[in-house]
Amino acid sequence: MTYESTRGSKEKVTFSQAVVAGLAPDGGLFVPCGDVRFGENELAEMAGLDYCGLAFKVMSRYAGDFTEDELKDCISGAYKSGRFPQDCPVRVTRAGNGLSVLELWHGPTSAFKDMALQILPRFMVTASRKCGENREITILTATSGDTGKAALEGFRDVPGIKVMVFYPAFGVSETQKLQMITQEGSNVCVKAIYGNFDDAQTGVKKIFGDAEFAEKLAKDGKMLSSANSINWGRLLPQIVYYFYAYFSLVRENSVNFGEKVDFCVPTGNFGDILACYYAKKSGLPVGKIICACNTNSVVADFLATGTYDKNRPFVTTSSPAMDILVSSNLERLIYDASGRDPVRTAGFMRELAEKGRYTVGKDILEKIREDFDSGFATEAETTEAIAEAYFKNGILIDPHTAVGYSVLGKKRAVSNGNQTVLVSTASPFKFNSSVAEAVCPQDVNENMSEEDISRIISGKTGESIPAPLIGLSSRKIRFPDTVEPEKMKQTAEEFIYG
Ligand SMILES: *Cc1c(COP(=O)(O)O)cnc(C)c1O
Repeated sequence: MTYESTRGSKEKVTFSQAVVAGLAPDGGLFVPCGDVRFGENELAEMAGLDYCGLAFKVMSRYAGDFTEDELKDCISGAYKSGRFPQDCPVRVTRAGNGLSVLELWHGPTSAFKDMALQILPRFMVTASRKCGENREITILTATSGDTGKAALEGFRDVPGIKVMVFYPAFGVSETQKLQMITQEGSNVCVKAIYGNFDDAQTGVKKIFGDAEFAEKLAKDGKMLSSANSINWGRLLPQIVYYFYAYFSLVRENSVNFGEKVDFCVPTGNFGDILACYYAKKSGLPVGKIICACNTNSVVADFLATGTYDKNRPFVTTSSPAMDILVSSNLERLIYDASGRDPVRTAGFMRELAEKGRYTVGKDILEKIREDFDSGFATEAETTEAIAEAYFKNGILIDPHTAVGYSVLGKKRAVSNGNQTVLVSTASPFKFNSSVAEAVCPQDVNENMSEEDISRIISGKTGESIPAPLIGLSSRKIRFPDTVEPEKMKQTAEEFIYG
């Protein structure tokens, strides 16, 4: 399997090259050149595999130039070395009434990004060795909370790699901040910046775009890379858990083998949901893939109308990992739905950059709507969904998952009768204030610390607080500093050369 750019540069690259480069040289995203297809017999065999076995089976079809041992080492290093529950990194729970929940947040940072960011560093180390790349890599990331922490945990103490994370001083939750400023590891650095997420993101993009800086780094045997979800190495591991969820339902007789299952995915940068699309394309019996957005409904609106329009206010919500106006991975879907037409795809992306909007043709929209459905939830609906999920279905969910629950509630009024899996992307204890507001508002007040709130929720619901979130406030603070956005490059440089 080789990879090509969505924007048409002719050169085909290996899996390793795609992982090391991240972005294609023409600014496009790497996509597999061919389709992976699992036949019915093959699927039946896969149904009996454990998570790591399944991960190998799925990923080996895409990781073309990795040897069997290399891929197996990456998989077991990520999912079997004690950072996830030993038996299986994910959980599938029944919520009744044809609904199951796929919990992807049992890793070290209690958010679904661990599923990819625990394995991406292993891919990168293996891939750069295979490409003969021996420069020291610094992973540079701006985060609105979850990605930064997951990248820090994934890359910490990985030889030959450093990690630098910038986060907005007033744009992350108390828990997220504590998680980052107490980060352990000898190769990590975290700084807050005076500004919002966009300022952090813009600063990081500027550093990446600084040709002179890149040249200086290259001369000194160093390079920058990104842990951003545009990297194919981050998308690939996410395909696996859709298979796992489906086979779980088959094993417990909730569906017959071959029967279609719908998935509802809380969506921001369109990475998680795109992985579901790849699973479906490769033969997994998936019905509708439901894209759930928060008030920043730019993607849901696109899927409904065919017009992508980012000229709208950016709203800060209780599901910050989904607060987004430019959803990068959508480009991969558009490329596919246009019949792999790089000229049209590049054209839409140019319009987006120049005018902030584009409209796809009817052919593309119809193709997309064969697989996707969409909706969004307001803040009030999200709070309501947390309460309803708990009091009616007995499941405690975080605001991101609740956006999905709410959208699903609206869709199910016109249900096609399929079993549905709601993808749960963060532990409710990571966003405890919003959860308390919905489940036990009378028991909390604004003077309480986030840890107090977690204890109250736990006492009320009987759900236990994930171990990585316990005792955060008593850990040693290693990264207390906040810098001006103008100082980001200098700060990065000091760390890279330090
Ligand atoms: C990143 C994130 C999302 C959005 O996932 P995408 O792949 O960017 O669409 C949803 N929920 C949580 C908790 C996240 O951290």
